[in-house]
Amino acid sequence: MLYTSTRDKSVHVSSSQAIAQGISKDGGLFVPEEIPAISADFIDSLVGLDYITRAKKVLSLYLTDFSEEEIDMCVSGAYKEGKFSSKKVAPIRKIADGGNVLELWRGPTCAFKDMALQLLPYLLTVAAKKTVADKTIVILVATSGDTGKAALEGFKDVPGTKIMVFYPEDGVSPMQKLQMTTQEGSNVCVCAINGNFDDAQSGVKAIFTNSDVAAKLAENGMMFSSANSINWGRLVPQIVYYISAYADLIENGTIKNGDEINVVVPTGNFGNILAAYYAKRMGVPVKTLVCASNANNVLTDFLKTGTYDKNRSFYATTSPSMDILISSNLERLLFHLTGADDAKITDWMNALSKDGKYSVDKEVADKIFAIFDAGFCDDKETAKTISKTYKDGYLCDTHTAVAVKVYEEYAQRTGDKTETVIASTANPYKFSAAVLKAVGDEIPEGADEFDQVKLLIDETGEPCPPQLANLKDKPVRFKAVCSKEDMTKTVYDMLGIK
Ligand SMILES: *Cc1c(COP(=O)(O)O)cnc(C)c1O
Repeated sequence: MLYTSTRDKSVHVSSSQAIAQGISKDGGLFVPEEIPAISADFIDSLVGLDYITRAKKVLSLYLTDFSEEEIDMCVSGAYKEGKFSSKKVAPIRKIADGGNVLELWRGPTCAFKDMALQLLPYLLTVAAKKTVADKTIVILVATSGDTGKAALEGFKDVPGTKIMVFYPEDGVSPMQKLQMTTQEGSNVCVCAINGNFDDAQSGVKAIFTNSDVAAKLAENGMMFSSANSINWGRLVPQIVYYISAYADLIENGTIKNGDEINVVVPTGNFGNILAAYYAKRMGVPVKTLVCASNANNVLTDFLKTGTYDKNRSFYATTSPSMDILISSNLERLLFHLTGADDAKITDWMNALSKDGKYSVDKEVADKIFAIFDAGFCDDKETAKTISKTYKDGYLCDTHTAVAVKVYEEYAQRTGDKTETVIASTANPYKFSAAVLKAVGDEIPEGADEFDQVKLLIDETGEPCPPQLANLKDKPVRFKAVCSKEDMTKTVYDMLGIK
């Protein structure tokens, strides 16, 4: 199977090349030229299997230039026993009639990004060996909070790699910040920027596609790659858990093979929900994909009107990992829905960077309306939903609450009773302040992050994952803040390049 660029169809690369390179030279994203199909029998064969075995079967459909041994080594390393706090890796839990939460945050950093970023370093190491043997891979990351930590944890001390993370100084939760600034490892570096996530992402993308910077790295035996969801190696592991979730719903008797399900995803960069779209295209009977946004509801408007317009206020919300106005992975969806029209995609993306907006044609819009539903939920409703869901027996984080609320609204508006998978993307203790306020009392003055964790434990009896609780005693290693304009220089400094 080959991969092409959303902005230049004459590009044909292997999955290794796509993963090692991260982004196409033309600024486009790598997409599979054909989406592999799975049958009902294939799905049947997954029932009763463990996550590692399921992942191997699904990944081998996409990573066709990896040997069976290589895929086995990668997957077994990523999801080996003890790394995730559930034997199922991504367990399903019924929280309401029709509502089934898929817990994607059982990994080392307590957010769904671990599902992909525990695997990506393995995939990238194998891919680099095949394609760029002797180069040091420099991973540049822009993060809205969770990708940064998950990538640092995945890549720390991985031979042949260095990793540098940029996060918005005031745009992440205290726990997210501490997770990153206390990161251990000899090949890691973390820097805050004065700006929001979109600034960080645009800055990183500009560095990636700057040929002068690439030449300078090459002189020094290095090359860039990406651990953001622009990298195909980030997306493909995410397809696995939607297929696995479907098998689990059969396994636990919620559905029969062939029954339709809905999927609701709390969305920022459109990576997670795009993985669900690929699962649907492959043959998982998904009826509707529901895109849930917070107050930064640019996607809600787009999926309902066909016009993407980022010219609007940016809100810092209690679900910061979704505070995004430029959702990179939408480009991949549009490429598939236009029948691979690279010229159109290029036009729209140029319009987005020039005018901050574009409109898709009616034909594409109609396809979108047929597949997607969308809704959004502000901070007040998020808090109410955490409280209500908790009273009903489930403590969820702010991002998951956005999805739960949008699901409830969707079910009410449409009367659709189809069994639904709701992606749960973070552990509540990553956002203790917001969750505590939602379920309990006022936070006492002067209470720090760890006092709040303690209060939340007292209030709910839910255990705090040790990797979060233990941050209290870890020394802060990274205190630097740079301006948007200085990101390139910061990268050179970290790499010791003049
Ligand atoms: C990254 C993230 C999201 C958004 O996922 P996308 O793939 O960017 O749409 C939602 N919730 C949490 C907790 C996240 O870390």
